[in-house]
Amino acid sequence: MTRIDTEVLVVGSGAGGAVTAATLAAAGRTVTVLEEGPWVDPDALEPFSLDEMRLKYRHRGLSAALGAPTIAFAEGRCVGGSTEINSGLFPRLPDELAEEWRLNYAIDEFTPATLARYADGIEAQLTVSTLPSAPPVSSALLERGATKLGWRSVEFRRVFRYEGGRATKQTMARTFIPRAVRSGARVIPDCRVAKLLRDGDRLVGARAKRSTPDGDEPVDIRAEHVFVCGGAVQTPALLLRSGIRARIGVGLKLHPMIKIAARFPFELDHGDVPMHRITEFAPYIEIGGSASRKGQVAMALADSGAEYSEAMTDWSHVAVYYAAIREGIGRVRVVPGLRAPIVTYNLTDADMSRLARGLVRLGEALLAAGATELYPSVGGADVVRRPEDLVSWWDAVTRTRTNLMTVHLASTVRMGENRACTAADSFGRIRGFTNLRVNDASLLPDAPGVNPQSAIMTIAARNCDEFLAS
Ligand SMILES: Cc1cc2nc3c(=O)[nH]c(=O)nc-3n(C[C@H](O)[C@H](O)[C@H](O)COP(=O)(O)OP(=O)(O)OC[C@H]3O[C@@H](n4cnc5c(N)ncnc54)[C@H](O)[C@@H]3O)c2cc1C
Repeated sequence: MTRIDTEVLVVGSGAGGAVTAATLAAAGRTVTVLEEGPWVDPDALEPFSLDEMRLKYRHRGLSAALGAPTIAFAEGRCVGGSTEINSGLFPRLPDELAEEWRLNYAIDEFTPATLARYADGIEAQLTVSTLPSAPPVSSALLERGATKLGWRSVEFRRVFRYEGGRATKQTMARTFIPRAVRSGARVIPDCRVAKLLRDGDRLVGARAKRSTPDGDEPVDIRAEHVFVCGGAVQTPALLLRSGIRARIGVGLKLHPMIKIAARFPFELDHGDVPMHRITEFAPYIEIGGSASRKGQVAMALADSGAEYSEAMTDWSHVAVYYAAIREGIGRVRVVPGLRAPIVTYNLTDADMSRLARGLVRLGEALLAAGATELYPSVGGADVVRRPEDLVSWWDAVTRTRTNLMTVHLASTVRMGENRACTAADSFGRIRGFTNLRVNDASLLPDAPGVNPQSAIMTIAARNCDEFLAS
């Protein structure tokens, strides 16, 4: 048994955990980060490759929120968390949404001005920017389709550094984690926290297991303060496993995504994810592009249930696009004896019809951009070649035929002073505990409608300042 004494224990090293560790260590706190996944050199693996899925994803990328339809989802599990595998799109939380959350959930110090101050700081540290040159074809096509239809579109800024013709994603393993270590933080990979240990209204530490080549080694941690930053599924799971239940795990929000594999009469790029988004229907429907390596193209074509072998031989002309909504609600539960939590998600009939609308809008944009064949992620739906045939998709998007996925999960430990629907206070402190905080995607009280990493890091940085001030 290894025994660790620390002032601050941070569980998880992703977007929320890395900011927490770097900020608190820079302020002179003794910080220990325990990360369940391995350390993987950020330059070692091809982005969006099968090797990446094997080493950096939880369950090798195969997780699902059960429901009708079931929604496949992915989470990172490595030092840096999901920031190591994501696309680096970094839009800010829209001001109108921040204001809505502030009022509905009674969140203190959550004005657009306060959030902007923290977002400025994070963006400066991560060199968030637009492309220094023309966008790749797969991205420009979204802009072209939108422009032809008279819709709004925008190039999202990304968390990339552009130097000497090379674009390097500024993941947590490249930025905040090394900064935390330089300030004295200790980061322990391959170390899963199984349970938090409490004594009345205080946490005293945690029990963890570290995987080594010789087998699992128990680790006993004693800490004065605990920040749980395991992501929107694992954070509530750890709290529930530790007997901390009040309003934990309920209210899960995600962005259900419906996809189209679109074939064009010309070669497309496949190395990057499109940075353009069609914002005409925001915040209710977001339209964008996904990773489109050969494997992802094959999966998207297969999701259509159509005969796709001919399209697959031409896969270099095919890219994958999506329409995402903000609707639905779910839950994270733990079951004794099961290591993984059970995740469920419900969509209403109205939500399904919004997905159908998103799919049809996406189809319109892709055809306007020059696509010749559209394979929707709806089993048995028509492969569409002309705008007038898109109408057949309205009835095809049913609970049994539609294949959905997501990479954005949030809201399982909602923050705010509205005690009827939040588990943590305005700064992530769990009610009923003096020294337990959450500081990750779980705190977002609703689906942000845009890629969430910026909002997560902005809120985490703000919460750290409040912790240091108190
Ligand atoms: C494929 C993909 C693409 C995405 N693209 C974008 C994008 O372009 N832009 C964007 O804004 N967002 C994107 N996201 C989402 C974004 O990356 C996440 O919302 C964000 O990283 C969540 O931050 P987090 O701190 O809550 O959790 P994470 O970053 O997921 O980090 C949680 C970490 O905690 C660890 N952990 C969990 N439980 C334990 C435990 N018990 N003990 C020890 N460690 C534990 C996990 O292993 C993980 O490493 C994407 C996500 C994925 C998966």
